[in-house]
Amino acid sequence: NGPVVIVGAGHGGYQVAASLRQAGFSERICLINDEAHLPYQRPPLSKAYIKGSAGPESLMFRPEKFYQDQNIELIAGRAVSIDRAGHKVLLASGETLGYGHLVLATGARNRLLDLPNANLPDVKYLRILDESEALRAIMPSKTRVVVIGAGFIGLEFAATARIKGLEVDVLELAPRVMARAVTAEVSEYVQARHREAGIRIHLGVQATSIEAEGGKVTGVSLSDGRHLPADLVVVGVGVLPNIELAAEAGLTVAAGIIVDEYLATADPDISAIGDCALFASPRFGGSLRLESVQNATDHARCLAGRLTGDKKPYDGHPWFWSDQGDDKLQISGLTTGYDRVVLRGDPAKKAFSAFCYRGETLLGIESINRAGDHMFGRRLQGMNRSITPAQAADESFDLKSALA
Ligand code: FAD
Repeated sequence: NGPVVIVGAGHGGYQVAASLRQAGFSERICLINDEAHLPYQRPPLSKAYIKGSAGPESLMFRPEKFYQDQNIELIAGRAVSIDRAGHKVLLASGETLGYGHLVLATGARNRLLDLPNANLPDVKYLRILDESEALRAIMPSKTRVVVIGAGFIGLEFAATARIKGLEVDVLELAPRVMARAVTAEVSEYVQARHREAGIRIHLGVQATSIEAEGGKVTGVSLSDGRHLPADLVVVGVGVLPNIELAAEAGLTVAAGIIVDEYLATADPDISAIGDCALFASPRFGGSLRLESVQNATDHARCLAGRLTGDKKPYDGHPWFWSDQGDDKLQISGLTTGYDRVVLRGDPAKKAFSAFCYRGETLLGIESINRAGDHMFGRRLQGMNRSITPAQAADESFDLKSALA
């Protein structure tokens, strides 16, 4: 009991506050926000927002009035330490906030490129609204961009930059794009589509230095000796979870803030959710740290339930999406650890799904422009059911029959 203080007003932090009020929680809620905007959605930053001309208000979860009406105190500032014995959070401003329960929803930050000239103004990252704004503003004056990293964000940006008429080179150390996240079948399709759009993708190479003249980027040198001219570099080489606040407070951290299946740390009055949390997952075995809206939002709802008397272990079903050019990739389930991939549909028709199996068990589905397969996957997961690889491959097999 007592106030709930939430550190971080991203997807997870916002949702805990909203869900607590929805569940009738009547005590004080403080949402500590270190970004100079109302809480906002992150996915459009590398998609519609950077492509379009809408203002920041188009990204906001809710207008300011919502927080007033719901009596959610949005506190501008940064939490710098936690006094666990005193149940207090110290802000950079010197203010302290007492808590009954503390929620760490600190998310993740860009992994920075450790190369000469990587701190020049024309070397950009894409995690927060200000970075998306900065890129959107600078793009019209640029002609050639090198994107470092062919993960979701790098490729989403690359597609947009190409649409906007820039010459685009993408560098990736792995032998295929999005290698950690999707099957070879989906990588291959996506690579081919970006190449068709005129994007040059360089695999198995690393940037070794960024060249500049008079403080302006002129190009990027590669590990294979080549040099690519560029007047803009965009770095998308992954993120680091923000675990320092927890670690300094003596909470256990590894590749995330360690929490149990209830999203609680070893301190019963502190929980962690979203991108920063390494959570125990009875469903998948072991611990997981996921970076997705679904994960942050469902964590938040689960935690708000516990804090209002509905204690249940977290058992969300992962799903994710990425828009790249005209293609929509959607993933349901966790498609790691598969030993067999079955295709449904036809990559040549720009619409197919990769059903990923371990033995006969369906782990997840990666869909390209097949929203129906994706929704099927999510519903099937929710029912803890599977279909056989033969059924998945057979287009005449009616997926709906598996949901009946
Ligand atoms: P965040 O949303 O990162 O919020 C954490 C907040 O905490 C940040 O505002 C941070 O500044 C703040 N913070 C950190 N430390 C402190 C502190 N000490 N004091 C105060 N505040 C602090 N996911 C999808 O599912 N689909 C997509 O298509 C997709 N696209 C994406 C595109 C981009 C460009 C990015 C960056 C991410 C995308 N994601 C996508 C991932 C998704 O946005 C994240 O998984 C989600 O935002 C995680 O929510 P979170 O609340 O854990 O962290």
